[in-house]
Amino acid sequence: SITPATLSAISNAARKGVLFKGGTHVENLSHINAIAFDKTGTLTKGKPEVTDAFFADEADELYVTSVVGAIENESTHPLAQALTKYSEQKGNNASRIDVNDMKTKSGKGVTAQVNNQTWKIGNADFVGRQDADVFMNGIAAELAAQGKTVLFAKADDAIVAVFALKDTIRKSTKKAISKLKKAGIHTVMITGDNELTAQAVAEEAGIDHYIANCLPEEKVEHVKILRKEYENIAMVGDGINDAPALASANVGIAMGEGTGIALETADMVLIKNNLERITNSMTLSNRMNRIVK
Ligand code: ADP
Ligand code: MG
Repeated sequence: SITPATLSAISNAARKGVLFKGGTHVENLSHINAIAFDKTGTLTKGKPEVTDAFFADEADELYVTSVVGAIENESTHPLAQALTKYSEQKGNNASRIDVNDMKTKSGKGVTAQVNNQTWKIGNADFVGRQDADVFMNGIAAELAAQGKTVLFAKADDAIVAVFALKDTIRKSTKKAISKLKKAGIHTVMITGDNELTAQAVAEEAGIDHYIANCLPEEKVEHVKILRKEYENIAMVGDGINDAPALASANVGIAMGEGTGIALETADMVLIKNNLERITNSMTLSNRMNRIVK
C-alpha cells in the first residue's frame, strides 16, 4: 500500500519532470552513496560533430568520405550519425556506393565490404593500435586530450582516414555533479571511449572517477563492483547498452530522451534530461522518509 507521504513525493517529483515508477524507488534514492553515469547521451548531449579529418591521400578524400558516409549510414550509433552528416556536407556520392555485409562490433566500430575491399571504421584498438599510432604520430593523443573521440577508417590493410568528433556536455552536468559531491555522493563515469577522451570529459564534468574502454557488456560488472564498495548505488544511462546496468543498480535512472529499453528498465526517469533533478529528488526522498518514520 502507498502512504500519503509517498504519494505526495511522487507527485511532487512528477511536477518537476521526474517520473518514479513506485514508492520503493523514492525511498531507495535516499540511501545512495555513489552514482555511476554513462558518458555519451547522459553526461553529454549524445550529438557529436566531426571537428577534424585527416586523409592518407588527399586525392582520395571525396571517395573515402563517401564510403565512410555510406557505411555509417547503416548504423544508428550517434558517432555514425555524425560521420554520415559530415559526409553529406562534403558533397559525397554515398548513394552510389554499394555497401555489403555491414556488421557492428559493439563498443568498437563497424566493418563492411565495399568494391572488393574490407573496410573498418572504429577506434584504435579496432583497426590495430600500432597502425593507428604510426598514422597519427601523436596527433590522436592531442585530439583525445581535448575530449574528442578519434575514429579511424581502414581499407584492407591501410588506414585511409582519421576523424575527430566532439560531443558537448549537457548544460546541467557540472552543476549536478557538484551538488552530488556536496551531498557526499561519490561520482563515477563509465564509458566505452578511450582513456584520454574519458579523462578529459570526466575533468570537464568534475567527476571523481572514470572507467574507460568499457565494453557494453562490462557495464553490469562495474555496477556490481561499485555495489560492493558503496553498497547502494544509482546508475544513470540512456542507451540500449545501459539497460542491464540500470537493472543491476539499486536505483536505475534513465534520461527522458533515452531509448525505449532504458526507459522501461529504469526505476526513475529524468523526463527533461536535467541531471540536477537527481539531487532535487534526493531531497524529496529524504523528506518523505522522515515523514514515514
Ligand atoms: P559510449 O560508452 O561513449 O556510449 P560505445 O560503447 O557506444 O560508447 O562505443 C565505444 C566506442 O566504440 C566509441 O567511442 C567508438 O570508438 C567505437 N564505435 C562504436 N560504434 C561505432 C560506429 N558506428 N562507428 C565507429 N566507431 C564506433
Ligand atoms: Mg549513452
